[in-house]
Amino acid sequence: MKILVLNCGSSSLKYQLINMENETVMAKGLCERIGIENSSFEHKNFDGQKIKKEANMKNHEDAVKIVINNLLDENFGVIKDIKEIDAVGHRVLHGGKYFSEPVLIDQKVKDAIRDCFILGPLHNPSNLIGIETCERLMPDIKQVAVFDTAFHQTMPEKAFIYALPYEYYKENNIRRYGFHGTSHKFVAMRISEILQNNNLKLITCHLGNGSSVCAIKNNKCVDTSMGLTPLEGLAMGTRCGDIDPAIIKFLAHQKNFNIDEIDNILNKKSGVLGISQVSSDFRDVEKAAQNNNYQAKLALEIFYYRCAKYIGAYAAALNGIDVIAFTAGLGENSPETREAICNYLNYLGVEIDKEKNNSRGKEVEISNQNSRVKVFVVPTNEELMIARETLNLIK
Ligand code: ADP
Repeated sequence: MKILVLNCGSSSLKYQLINMENETVMAKGLCERIGIENSSFEHKNFDGQKIKKEANMKNHEDAVKIVINNLLDENFGVIKDIKEIDAVGHRVLHGGKYFSEPVLIDQKVKDAIRDCFILGPLHNPSNLIGIETCERLMPDIKQVAVFDTAFHQTMPEKAFIYALPYEYYKENNIRRYGFHGTSHKFVAMRISEILQNNNLKLITCHLGNGSSVCAIKNNKCVDTSMGLTPLEGLAMGTRCGDIDPAIIKFLAHQKNFNIDEIDNILNKKSGVLGISQVSSDFRDVEKAAQNNNYQAKLALEIFYYRCAKYIGAYAAALNGIDVIAFTAGLGENSPETREAICNYLNYLGVEIDKEKNNSRGKEVEISNQNSRVKVFVVPTNEELMIARETLNLIK
């Protein structure tokens, strides 16, 4: 069984072809700057051959065609016939209220994805183009949609309803949805596998450029930090996370910004980038902080503190914690981040082993023997999760 996983971003397309017999990646790649000048792609196969080329990609349809050509290429391709692909798993950003599980794609599903354009304006349109192009180019191959919001659909109303006039929820679907669901689910499944226990109170921290925390009980999400959009919650690489909503009016009046400008500031110019004025990349900010850059140190402190506050809140939501798990770029690779966050959590009985914590990109338990809460690092693998979900559906 070979599953192609496609992740169409606003101007990029990431892909992996996975052999599900042994869950190995046969080829993977990335198309960038789709619809912008100088678009290019990178493709790598399991023999380690890597190519990088400029190629004109006006839209995601052009990108999908390039992906298929790459997979079939005489020299660096990994399949001889498109029919070797058993199914395509599409990452779809926003499933709105419609999807709590992955689904086989049909007209109804496509209509629902279109209905969610307003909720995911940068991603859902690209996701749909990816799907429709695959349907045209490989009409006999099953297509599955795996939604970033789906895992969070088990949240109770008290967690997902905003304290706004109720009709905005009823009529406009304004509520909290949550994101990174595929990653939180992957980590939750891995933790219950490691501990052989499906009845855990678990907090997963997906800390990357975009970051979110998720409270999970018995493998089901009960709360998560992102909301209607990924802007809510933690301070992130460039997103502000939770702020007083009155700031929007303030900025409009004092700085004369219009609503789109403010949206751009909150999403792209805030967070760790905005505070540090160094970079949105945590490696750069960590380096600047080591060199005593005041704003860089402050940005990191704010990031850690806010993450610890969410964990505290979710300890209340779960009425206790058995396990905390760190994942994604920063969660997997930054011992400093994990230690700084865990230092806030001594009152919960969290104690980490500095030596074990001093590792990068590996699955490891970092709590010590006395810790009342187990703390793990679990590298996430959203593509593999999408491939597994796809396989489950087509079987
Ligand atoms: P996203 O998928 O949201 O773009 P990732 O999960 O790939 O984000 O995480 C990217 C972030 O992880 C970057 O800010 C990067 O600096 C950080 N990161 C990656 N490796 C390290 C490292 N070794 N030390 C500190 N931060 C790292």
